[in-house]
Amino acid sequence: MAKAATTTHSGRTFLEIVNDFTGEKLAACYQCGKCSAGCPAAYAMDLLPHQVIRLIQLGRKDKVLDSHTIWMCASCETCTARCPKDVDLARVMDALRQIAYEEGRTAAESDTVTFQKAFLDWVRRTGRQFESGLVGEYKLRTGHLFQDLDAAPRMMGKLKMVPRRIKGQAAVERIFKKCEKRSAQGDRPADRKGH
Ligand code: SF4
Ligand code: SF4
Repeated sequence: MAKAATTTHSGRTFLEIVNDFTGEKLAACYQCGKCSAGCPAAYAMDLLPHQVIRLIQLGRKDKVLDSHTIWMCASCETCTARCPKDVDLARVMDALRQIAYEEGRTAAESDTVTFQKAFLDWVRRTGRQFESGLVGEYKLRTGHLFQDLDAAPRMMGKLKMVPRRIKGQAAVERIFKKCEKRSAQGDRPADRKGH
């Protein structure tokens, strides 16, 4: 395939962009499929993990960034552990989500993005996860107020109703601020690899 067909408006191929972003060398992937065979979220994906890598190699940016797969990935790192070529696919999925988010390609996954934002907001506020607050906040933000209402009685008594802050919450806040600063400076995960 001619390079012109796979380059982005920046003149770099999508493969080069993802390699730079992650510090990975995705050309090394030889499509053995071990990552997909072990992926616990594969059943919910429209592209299997090894197909994502192949499409990146081919420069199919839109197909990859508009896929459900990158939002279905649970970041469990099973694929990373199984890869015989040391491709950190979990890191790649994380980078693809970030690129898609920065390019505003989240309309079809707005509920997923809303859930992730609510999750992070609670971690930032309390230093830990607060399931009741997360569910409530997600429902308020998405308008899905009555979805899964039948599960509520079963959950009562299992979930804490009042959030508790951890002692090191100030340190968590500092981590968030540092991440925001690095992101504003255009820092990429690859810049921190190995540190
Ligand atoms: S396990 Fe590694 S080499 Fe095999 S298909 Fe997946 S990313 Fe490629
Ligand atoms: S990190 Fe994502 S892609 Fe890899 S095995 Fe886990 S869910 Fe699948």
